[in-house]
Amino acid sequence: MADKKNYYDVLGVPKTASQDEIKSAYRKLAKQYHPDFHPGDTVAAEKFKEINEANEVLSDENKRKQYDYELEHPGMGGMGGNPFGGGFGGFGGGMGGFEDIINSVFGGGFGGGRGSAQTATPRGADIQQTINLSFLDAIKGCTKTVSYMRNEPCTSCNGTGAKGGTAYQKCPRCGGSGRVKFQQDTIFGRTIQVAGCPDCGGTGKKILDRCPDCKGKGYQRNETRFTVNIPAGVDKDSSLRKRGFGQAAGNGGESGDLYINFHIEPHKLLHREDRDLYVTVPISYKTAVCGGKIQVPGIDDTLELSIPECTPSGTRFCLRGKGVKTIHGTGNLYVTVEIDVPQKLSREQSKKLDEYEESVPLKSCDKMQKFANNVSAIYGKKVEKQ
Ligand SMILES: [Zn+2]
Ligand SMILES: [Zn+2]
Repeated sequence: MADKKNYYDVLGVPKTASQDEIKSAYRKLAKQYHPDFHPGDTVAAEKFKEINEANEVLSDENKRKQYDYELEHPGMGGMGGNPFGGGFGGFGGGMGGFEDIINSVFGGGFGGGRGSAQTATPRGADIQQTINLSFLDAIKGCTKTVSYMRNEPCTSCNGTGAKGGTAYQKCPRCGGSGRVKFQQDTIFGRTIQVAGCPDCGGTGKKILDRCPDCKGKGYQRNETRFTVNIPAGVDKDSSLRKRGFGQAAGNGGESGDLYINFHIEPHKLLHREDRDLYVTVPISYKTAVCGGKIQVPGIDDTLELSIPECTPSGTRFCLRGKGVKTIHGTGNLYVTVEIDVPQKLSREQSKKLDEYEESVPLKSCDKMQKFANNVSAIYGKKVEKQ
């Protein structure tokens, strides 16, 4: 996945190619490298796979758009690669097959490159599982147990459906390829068509003795359960892929993949947008005017923030690097302060405020002064502090 060839180069078309040009280039190459014409040639088979993969993306305008974006923004990862850039080196190995963390910016569906329509043996279906994460677990990373029901490849027969995993032979009709060629005479001449072998259902195998445990199906319905390390910084758009943990295909085919998606619970105070965190903190009128130190919510603890003198309500402060840490960098924490007013005042408090108000002249209040000037210019009226 890491060093994928440029799809345009694979098909030999310019980036500006029209859908017709793509289609015709694909047809020509697919014919040229079709495995039926190169039996046993792994280089041709690989090339054929590449061509199909390129076509799958470029022939779909949406996928193509995302792919173009990805080409122009190579630092963003994506396209079924690992946007977290291998920063979780120990993760893939240790967890057995979690090679991909996919962000939805790239559609998330680009992992499907393998197992093209031309694969002989049917591939098992993918499974989607959603895990609930608390707001902080998603930011800090955590370990979760995943359990779900699926068709697991039968261990007695290795997923082949044949007793002991060996009681089969190559399908005599298709010679094990799973495909058969049909000759057809039409008014345009003789054409050769390829279709799935009807004798073996495209598996290429003829079962001589059925596996007694799965009755020849090659899979058994079981609960699959494992623990997974959720890396720090995942978001609602992230998903993890565990290869081969989807539905078993049966008959020795490749299992589908498991996609783990996340539902992230909201936080009572913090709001997250990608790497950045946002919070609104109420402060008193006195703090806004005289300044002071306030406590603001952070990820692990509250953080101290100095409010300068004469801070208007709605001012936003940026605490650099106090947002979510991801492999792409760390976000910021944005704090908006809002002046909160008392629900009720006593007569005495009101009187003190009156005295205070009288002591503050209009000219020391910048916005009110400007407002008064404008009212006077437009309406010819004089307004005082209000
Ligand atoms: Zn066959
Ligand atoms: Zn079995």
